[in-house]
Amino acid sequence: MGSKKHPQQSTPPTKKAPTFLLELPLAVQAGQAARLGGHLETGRQFYNAVLSEGQQRLRRMKADPAWQAARAIPRTHTQERRAAFSALREQYGFSEYAFHELAKALRVTWLAEHLDAVLAQTLATRAYQALNRVCVGKAHRVRFKSRGRGLSSIENKRNDTGLRFVVQTQDGGRRKGYLLWHNDQLEALIDWDDPVVTHGLSQRIKYARLLRRRASSPRAQGADSQGGRYFVQLALEGVPLQKPEHAVGSDTVGLDLGPSSIAIVPREAEARLEPLCAELRPDARAIRRLQRRMDRQRRAANPEHYDEKGRPRKRGKGAPRWKQSRGYQASRRRKAARERKLAAHRKSLHGRLVHQIVAVGHTIVTEKISYKGWQKRYGKSVGLRAPGMLIDHLRRTVASTGGTLHEVPTRSTKLSQFCHGCGQTVKKPLWQRWHHCSCGIGPVQRDLYSAFLAAYLDPAEPLPSCAQYVVPWEGAEARLRAAHERVKERAKEGQVLPRSMGIPRAGARLPESRSEPTQEPAFSLRRGRLEAWRGRENPRGLGPGSIQYFTSNV
Ligand SMILES: [Zn+2]
Repeated sequence: MGSKKHPQQSTPPTKKAPTFLLELPLAVQAGQAARLGGHLETGRQFYNAVLSEGQQRLRRMKADPAWQAARAIPRTHTQERRAAFSALREQYGFSEYAFHELAKALRVTWLAEHLDAVLAQTLATRAYQALNRVCVGKAHRVRFKSRGRGLSSIENKRNDTGLRFVVQTQDGGRRKGYLLWHNDQLEALIDWDDPVVTHGLSQRIKYARLLRRRASSPRAQGADSQGGRYFVQLALEGVPLQKPEHAVGSDTVGLDLGPSSIAIVPREAEARLEPLCAELRPDARAIRRLQRRMDRQRRAANPEHYDEKGRPRKRGKGAPRWKQSRGYQASRRRKAARERKLAAHRKSLHGRLVHQIVAVGHTIVTEKISYKGWQKRYGKSVGLRAPGMLIDHLRRTVASTGGTLHEVPTRSTKLSQFCHGCGQTVKKPLWQRWHHCSCGIGPVQRDLYSAFLAAYLDPAEPLPSCAQYVVPWEGAEARLRAAHERVKERAKEGQVLPRSMGIPRAGARLPESRSEPTQEPAFSLRRGRLEAWRGRENPRGLGPGSIQYFTSNV
C-alpha cells in the first residue's frame, strides 16, 4: 500500500523524557463499579462510532481513482508520492487531526456527561491508529468492540483534569492514592513497603490509564458483578527502580578474568565460562559505523588537509582550520548518544554478572591484574568491556554484603602456568587454550583451570601447592568439563564466543589431538599482528589468550 504519513505526524517528536509504568489494583465498590461500567460502555460506543465513520472515509478514499494514481507513482519519487497521498488524506479527512475534529462533533451532550473531551480524543487517536494500520497494509481489518467484551481500557493525556491519579497525605501521615474520575474516588491498593512502588509514586505522573480485566469469576475477590477487576496504570516520568538482589551465597568463588571472557569456579556450585559483555557488540558496531561516517564527512569537508593520494597532510603553522559540516556535527552528536547508551548498557551487564557471582559466594579469589597493561595490549576490547570497572563493581558489592574480594599477586601465584599434578609452572603460549599436562591433568580449558586453582587458594598464603588441590580436583574436574560442555552447546546454537574459550572450529586444534605444545603458529590473525605477538611473553595473569578475537572482532 505504501501511503505516507500525514505531514502532521511526520514532524519529529519533541524529545521525550523516559517513561515507565506502574500498575496498581483498585478497590472498587459496587456503586462505583456500576458507574465505571457505564462510562466504559459509553467509551465503547463512542470508539465504535469513530471507527465506523473512519472506516467509511477510508473506503471512500481508496475508491477514488486518484488513490490508484498515487499508488502508481514510483517509490523513487518520494516527494511526489507523499504529496499525492497526503492530499487525498486531507480531502477525505483521514488523519489523526481530522479524527479529533470528528470526535468533537460526535461527543454530543449525553455522551459528554460520561466522557471528557481529552478521553474522547485519545479514543479517536486509537481508532485512527487502528484504521491507519489497514490503510498502510499492516492489518487486514479493524475490530469493533462488542458489548460483551467491552472497552478494556481508557486513558488520559494529562494528570491535572479528568481521569487522574492523586496521592493524599491524611491525618497521621498516612498516604493514600486515588484514581479520580467524574465524582468517584477509587482507592488504589498500595504497598508502601515496596520500594519499587514508593519510588514510582515519587515520580511525576504523566497520565493515568484505567484498566478493566476479566476476573476468573464474578465471585473472585475484588471483582464487580460482571466479573471485572479494575486497575490503574500510571505513566511515570523517569526510570523504574530495580529491586536489589539480596541473595548472598556462602561459597568461595575463584575467578579468572580475561579481556573478553570470565571463568567462574565456585568450590561447590556450578562452574561457568562466560563471554564478557557479549551483548555490547551491536552497540559497538553502530559506534564504529558512525566513526567511519565522521571520518568520511571530515575528509569531504577538508580536502585541503589531504594530499592527492588521500593521505593526511602534515600539520604545521599556518595550516588551514579544520571545518566541521553540519552532517559531521550531527554524526558526532549521534555517536555521543550511542556511547552514553553503551556505557549504561555495560553498567547493567556488569551489575547482572556481579549479582550472579555474589549470589553464589561472598569470598572471592582472583589474580590481581594490571588493567593498565591490558589497556595497552588489548585497547579496544578492554575499552569496550571495561573489566577493571567490573572488578571495582564486584569489590564494592562484595564489601557491602560483608564478604571479601581477595586479589592475589600474579607474580607469585602464576595460576595460568601452574599444574597441580606435577607442581611445575609452564608458560602457555597464548594460542594454547587448554591445560593438558603430561602428568595426566587435563585436558581442561585453561581459564576454568585457573579459576579452579584460585578457588582453593589460601588468600593469606597465596602460593599454590600440589597437595592442597588433590582432593578438590576429584570433584571439580567434572564440573569444569560440564562448564565447557555448556559453552560448546552455546556455540552450536550459533552464539559467537571468544576464541579463548577453546571452542574447536575449522582450523583450530582440539586438545585431544595435541600431545606436545609445538611452536607452529595456529592462528589466523588477519591484520598481521602475529609477529608482534610471537615472542612476546605471555602476559601474566592473563588467562585466556584471545588475541584473534580482539584483533578481528572487536
Ligand atoms: Zn602436570
